[in-house]
Amino acid sequence: MEMQERDSYRHQGLRKKLVDKIGKKGIHDEKVLAAIGKVPRHLFLDPAFTEFAYEDQPFQIGEGQTISQPFTVAYQTAMLEVKKGDKVLEIGTGSGYQAAVLCEMGARVYSVERQKSLYEKAKKFLPSLGYMVKLFYGDGYKGLPAFAPFDKIIVTAAAPFIPDDLIAQLKEGGILVIPVGAGETQIMTRIVKLPEGKLDKKEFDYFRFVPLLEEKNFGKK
Ligand code: SAH
Repeated sequence: MEMQERDSYRHQGLRKKLVDKIGKKGIHDEKVLAAIGKVPRHLFLDPAFTEFAYEDQPFQIGEGQTISQPFTVAYQTAMLEVKKGDKVLEIGTGSGYQAAVLCEMGARVYSVERQKSLYEKAKKFLPSLGYMVKLFYGDGYKGLPAFAPFDKIIVTAAAPFIPDDLIAQLKEGGILVIPVGAGETQIMTRIVKLPEGKLDKKEFDYFRFVPLLEEKNFGKK
């Protein structure tokens, strides 16, 4: 009921236009587009930005972090090939928007965030919309060994390298989608874990993410 008040027909109309725009930009995965069409992105932003929530743009979410551009969320989600029931690990919870999109795809979502305030905000906010994501305050470079292995892993911050721990926590046949690069831009990289630990690695388009940070809030390695 609350949701209806907070997600008006106007918002739904704007969202439909956003989905059309993302489709025109080249995302044709119907399930991904349907998921983007369901998540009330305006509620994930600071009230000052609600007017712009359905523009295809990233926004500040506090702590110097951003909610990814919807096109980027759609692009990464499509690359993950999420199937209903997949156990998915996200690195970089941020606003929780990407995690919500994964929930709409039918995934069982685990997400790690290293900024305490963002972690706490998401922990209150996501359940208020009915998104039951398992949230963790921790260092994404290490993944979540206690809950491994995962069918899919998605990294939503710029990784200077591909962390071995994340590869180790992938199931055989599992997929890791990660933007790799220490500079201004990162190349979207998809790794499929093959039998006997072999990796099939492919590189796609360039994107611009905030960096996956090391060590802050974590005394030692
Ligand atoms: N997926 C988010 C956008 C993430 S922005 C969304 O949908 O809104 C990148 C996020 O990664 C930021 O919130 C940042 O604090 C977090 N981050 C940076 N370094 C990290 C690390 N080592 N481990 C976990 N999260 C990290």
